[in-house]
Amino acid sequence: MIIVMRAGSSDEQLKKVINRIEELGYRTHIMYGVERTVIGALGDERGKDKLLTLNQLPGVDKVIPILSPYKLAGTQLKEGHTQVKISGDCVIGKGQLGLIAGPCSVESEEQIVESAREVKAAGANALRGGAFKPRSSTYSFQGLGEEGLKLLALAREETGLPVVTEIIDHHDIDLIERYADVFQVGARNMQNFTLLKALGGTKKPVLLKRGMSARVDELLLAAEYILAAGNPNVILCERGIRTFETATRNTLDLNAVPAIRERSHLPIIIDPSHGTGVWRYVSTMSKAAIACGADGLIIEVHPHPDSALSDGAQSLKPKVFKQLVDELEPIARAVGCKSLGSRMFETVDDRPSAE
Ligand code: PEP
Ligand code: MN
Repeated sequence: MIIVMRAGSSDEQLKKVINRIEELGYRTHIMYGVERTVIGALGDERGKDKLLTLNQLPGVDKVIPILSPYKLAGTQLKEGHTQVKISGDCVIGKGQLGLIAGPCSVESEEQIVESAREVKAAGANALRGGAFKPRSSTYSFQGLGEEGLKLLALAREETGLPVVTEIIDHHDIDLIERYADVFQVGARNMQNFTLLKALGGTKKPVLLKRGMSARVDELLLAAEYILAAGNPNVILCERGIRTFETATRNTLDLNAVPAIRERSHLPIIIDPSHGTGVWRYVSTMSKAAIACGADGLIIEVHPHPDSALSDGAQSLKPKVFKQLVDELEPIARAVGCKSLGSRMFETVDDRPSAE
């Protein structure tokens, strides 16, 4: 339920309403507007009729139901767009495009440090690299584990780039939090509710990838688990879905961008590497992603894709990645973005005057 306070209601009245909501067993989510305060009452749907009586309390204007099943991820309790801060130089959302790049897996010190240097030089503002890999086959490379996390931290030290890495087991939260800046939840774990709830108890941002057979509303419901458990820093990621098509590894569903924009305030980025599975298609789909309003990209880049231990076929060489970022810049400007990775654009106000 949403409890809308009257314009001019007092702090005392607000406090009483909040106390009453909590007595009824609901959690409160308060939004202070310019004129009015709005309180979201979150909890068990079954007792929501009790909340209707709140309209008897002084200062309450009206009590209305939250129609969306994703109450915190949806737009009813939060208008506009959310910006997620990863580090000082890396902010995603509201016209600031995140560029997360790096290899699929961390393989060695040389590989990850070289990758980090190259993607930074090209304009990326975060480094990706998996230390715990969720592989379809148990015989495939499973990642270096903690050793991989240490190498990621080293690459961050060398370049200053914040680190995005996948978590596949909620028992690893403390370990990964020590080394990384963003928890990536992979497609295979989008509905691992134990993991989602546990990540809700952390403060670091979560990059939540859409499951390969998940609908947009299921992605938003998954995000809701993290938000409802207390972590507001969620970035959504479309990475391609399974269809009957076999020309590409997955079908990159760019429809998800406007569909999510309409339903949620959360930032949405695109992974064209897993979305296509073919390195030659990655640049084209990256440009399409920025043109259709995505908040950023996560792209696999490897110094030697031909010898990569995972996803070499979809990984860009650093030189190709640099060229892509150069080609993305005019598109990002054309759609009114303020920045692309570490490249900040002049706003109209910053430009030297014509005189
Ligand atoms: C990855 O990012 O390397 C990965 C495994 O992605 P996804 O979960 O989208 O398959
Ligand atoms: Mn990969």
